[in-house]
Amino acid sequence: MPAHSYARLPRAGQHPPAPAPGRPPLEVAAVDVTLADADPARPGNSAAAVLRAVLDHGPVARAAIGQATGLSPAAVSRQAADLISLGLLRELPDARQAAGRAGRPHIPVDVDTARHLACGVHIAVPMLTFGLVDLRGHVVAQEQVEHDGDPARVLALLGRHLPDFLRRHHGLPRAGRIARDRTALAPAGRLLGVGVVSGGLVDTRGGTILEHAPLGWRDVPVAAPLTAATGLPVHVDSHARALAQAEILFGDPRARRGLVHLFAGHVVDAAIAMDGTVLRGQRSAAGGVAHLRIPGGTQRCACGGTGCAEATLSERAWLARATAEGVVARPDIRLLADAVARRQPLAVALVRERLRLVGRLVALLIDMIDPEVVVLTEMATLQLPELIADVHAEVAARSRSCGAPGQVVRPSSFGPDVLAVAAAASILGAVHRSPRSVRPSLTQIPADALADAIPGTRTKAGPRPEALAGRR
Ligand SMILES: [Zn+2]
Repeated sequence: MPAHSYARLPRAGQHPPAPAPGRPPLEVAAVDVTLADADPARPGNSAAAVLRAVLDHGPVARAAIGQATGLSPAAVSRQAADLISLGLLRELPDARQAAGRAGRPHIPVDVDTARHLACGVHIAVPMLTFGLVDLRGHVVAQEQVEHDGDPARVLALLGRHLPDFLRRHHGLPRAGRIARDRTALAPAGRLLGVGVVSGGLVDTRGGTILEHAPLGWRDVPVAAPLTAATGLPVHVDSHARALAQAEILFGDPRARRGLVHLFAGHVVDAAIAMDGTVLRGQRSAAGGVAHLRIPGGTQRCACGGTGCAEATLSERAWLARATAEGVVARPDIRLLADAVARRQPLAVALVRERLRLVGRLVALLIDMIDPEVVVLTEMATLQLPELIADVHAEVAARSRSCGAPGQVVRPSSFGPDVLAVAAAASILGAVHRSPRSVRPSLTQIPADALADAIPGTRTKAGPRPEALAGRR
């Protein structure tokens, strides 16, 4: 079965068991995710403006924050002090010692990446990707777990694995420190929430996956059963919007002004963002490009049409071809990704042919929306970013409005971490847009109780899907 998961990572079962004794409780801070679309530039949102300036320029002195935001020195100092007390900013300790009594305004501040973490879960075919991501969008921990696609069993698996994942990595050595000091543990980060994203149509308010064609899911509630099972705040979103949100927060700065994000994997979907806000649409369906016709496309689509984007570009079709032509032994996207990464000529030729078709869709989107930047997330350019040149060539040949495709169209900023970063992005977006919505410690869940909260977690007898299925 094809997947959306490209990272070559250890499987969940390969991780050593958590060193449970003495593990601090999991502290849940939570953030109001309904504020994810609030405008950080609106009047009165000085805290978001200061946090954004530090995200972009940190470590940075308060005076420079004033220049970047237009706020007065007094206002910057006040906001910075509040953000430090919320655990979102920190003063650089070395600078603090060096400054002595010279006064706080000269001490640089930076985003505090140790105090808060967001968890993200990406649901794809046939993988769940779990990630813990800090306030700068860096992935602190990541795991992937295969699933069989049955919604009740997938939710039960998610409900079981999520607490295990958090217990394993809450207090994980920081990525940069691992090489130098394997015993250095970060302070246990407070969990801001759990973002769950998937392709297809997702109702964010209802926390429901309305339709995911490749999985065959319709109207599957996700947020309520997961919150009931784990006690954790769960926010559900479309992965297309989440990918765009991640790019706006931590990726190409032009994405904040005007972005089209195109995901071409097993599903093909897009997200459009203007002035930092990702469009949702009346039915949460904005950016649905799956059935736009690709010029020259000849694939029959389940919708009855011919040449639809998803039918033409879907990894399922291309993996079938790669298998038939002997490029890979079986239709597994990880095998094709490996072959591309090794520059195996047949594999590269195949994905380049697909990228030309992706380019035709990108040209359509550019002519329709005229964004500052188009970000493409798909397997081949995550492995070999230079292959984006094939998309550029097709856009140059077909777009009526884009004179410099090499500057406008680029691959994702996150490489193999893209799914984990995107899954956590709705939670992190809410923090960066409305920092004051971070509530001081909402609740504390003892590490052991977290495991006990999930029926079947402790048993060796295997999954008990009915535990969650009954709540749906
Ligand atoms: Zn169609």
